Amino acid sequence: MTGHRPGRLVLIGHPVAHSLSPAFQNAALRDAGIPLTYEALDVPPAALPHALRLLRTQRAAGNVTVPHKESVFIACDVLTPLARRVGAVNTFWTRDDGALVGDNTDVAGFEALADALGVVRAHCVVACMGSGGAASAVCAAVEQWPGALVRLWARTPQRARALAARFGDRVRVAPSLRDALDGAQLVVNATPLGLRDEDVPVAPDQLPRDARVMDLVYRRGETRWVREARRAGHAACDGREMLLVQGAAAFEQWFHRPPPLEVMRRALEAAAAR
Ligand code: NAP
Repeated sequence: MTGHRPGRLVLIGHPVAHSLSPAFQNAALRDAGIPLTYEALDVPPAALPHALRLLRTQRAAGNVTVPHKESVFIACDVLTPLARRVGAVNTFWTRDDGALVGDNTDVAGFEALADALGVVRAHCVVACMGSGGAASAVCAAVEQWPGALVRLWARTPQRARALAARFGDRVRVAPSLRDALDGAQLVVNATPLGLRDEDVPVAPDQLPRDARVMDLVYRRGETRWVREARRAGHAACDGREMLLVQGAAAFEQWFHRPPPLEVMRRALEAAAAR
């Protein structure tokens, strides 16, 4: 880990213009008196190797979002044990010796969402839709919950099988969505379904009774799935708290100081309302 301040602070993704991260990271930087600006960089996949070479020379740190989390995982010289477990990097920094270090703070973000929803972790049966980087962070968190189990359901079964194979018997691929949901106490959407208001990942009447509903997607006014699940009597929340906490954990990695969480939360709420 570098003992010096990063030379530059960025979010790498494609697209990134919609991201709420700059709003709350810049509020945190101002509050902490750190003279840096958190910049959203739209990097198409073909331009990623060049962008990473440049960022390394600038001693940059930052976050990574869709679709680059797995490519940055491969490009890093050093990985934290958690990033290695997840197989994806959402937070990075450049060490004094020029090494690019990759971490994953989405796991901490997911744990914060579980707290917000009052999830009872021990022996929890989790139905998780999706098999990308976010689903992998869910698996890495839940495998630490005593006796808990993830049932994965994804539209590309081979990707779900490959993810489950990395986690042993605590993560299983369900033969159908109905099997994934059957008796689940927590249902997680780890697909982008819901970014458009007309999409819901599971019809509310298919949700198991009393299941808690966690949407990793966030959008202005909450996602339709969260609104409908709540109307049907489920405890439900979208991915905003996860976004905040993964960003706060990243801030702590970059600057070795506690993040101004309430300042960040207020900035995020204000940006989401705009
Ligand atoms: P990813 O690696 O691209 O994986 C996306 C997963 O969703 C894949 O399994 C993909 O299936 C599936 N999928 C995509 N479109 C679909 C559709 N129309 N119907 C059904 N399944 C579909 O993305 P990710 O990094 O895991 O992120 C997933 C979502 O979580 C994104 O919306 C992201 O913004 C959100 N997220 C939020 C936070 C937060 O802080 N709140 C953090 C991380 C991620 P295929 O493999 O078949 O393409």
